[in-house]
Amino acid sequence: MKPAKFNYVRAGSVDQVLDLLEQPAGFVKILAGGQSLNPTLNMRLSAPDMLIDINDLDELRGIRVEEDRLHVGALTRHAELERSELVAGHAPLLTKAIQHVAHAAVRNRGTIGGNVSLADPASELPACCVALDASITIRNKQGTRVVRARDYFKDLYETDLQENDLMISISFPLAGDTTVCAFREFVRRRGDFASTGLVVNAELVDGVFTSFSPVFFAVANTPVLAAGVAQLLVNRTITGEVVEQAVAAVDHDVEITGDSNMSEEMKRHLAGHYLREVIGELYG
Ligand SMILES: Cc1cc2nc3c(=O)[nH]c(=O)nc-3n(C[C@H](O)[C@H](O)[C@H](O)COP(=O)(O)OP(=O)(O)OC[C@H]3O[C@@H](n4cnc5c(N)ncnc54)[C@H](O)[C@@H]3O)c2cc1C
Repeated sequence: MKPAKFNYVRAGSVDQVLDLLEQPAGFVKILAGGQSLNPTLNMRLSAPDMLIDINDLDELRGIRVEEDRLHVGALTRHAELERSELVAGHAPLLTKAIQHVAHAAVRNRGTIGGNVSLADPASELPACCVALDASITIRNKQGTRVVRARDYFKDLYETDLQENDLMISISFPLAGDTTVCAFREFVRRRGDFASTGLVVNAELVDGVFTSFSPVFFAVANTPVLAAGVAQLLVNRTITGEVVEQAVAAVDHDVEITGDSNMSEEMKRHLAGHYLREVIGELYG
């Protein structure tokens, strides 16, 4: 199929995008990498009146360290994240995760902003944003706001983004010498969206987790930070018994629901299995 007719604007500035988003031009969509939007247009699952192409906006691109945070522009491609030494040094969880996002061809076009705007529950980067306690900078004609990733994901494909908003960048606290991280996901074929996944970012000081952020994805409508699990593991000697208590706490923290890819029971089993594995990997 081909898309329904739409008007197309290749934006020359952020201000122009914000102006266009304010106009009553009907249903307006921002076009970033197009890797999720284009298929929905072609299948006519989405029929915007206007597409605003932001691909010329260099100010939305790039990776830099500033004021003790790693800043990634919304238009930064997955492939740039994957190859970035700054990302590998300061947010190693992103480097681990990005290799599991789609295939090289998709990573060459897809952007972190598009990915986190879409907020697919089976997507890897939203879960990393929550685990890393990222902040998301969003702008509209009225001003700029910064939203914690932990408050941003509201429900299935529903986020803090409003129709007149443009995502500008995402920033991450810098990893330190004691930062450790792990990534697990079950996929039927490499490059597919996950059927169940877990990312963890933690601090391990002298054999004790001083923080532990486990985020499960592809198990519910949004990525889920398992706070009860974290509480059981922080500032404790990790024994086999503690690990099993943490695995049991997943049920309490995460309301797992099955989907067409995997039953609830299997997701629950994998979530516990991955947590057990990851604690072993990080704790040594
Ligand atoms: C074959 C295939 C396999 C894939 N596998 C995976 C996978 O395993 N894991 C995964 O996470 N993803 C996967 N994806 C999706 C991919 O990661 C996309 O890049 C991503 O979801 C969307 O990014 P994009 O830049 O292409 O956004 P687009 O498709 O351009 O836009 C997506 C949505 O975000 C909005 N948007 C884009 N940028 C902004 C912005 N700056 N501000 C506000 N709104 C914005 C758009 O309006 C649109 O609604 C796959 C895609 C394909 C085609």
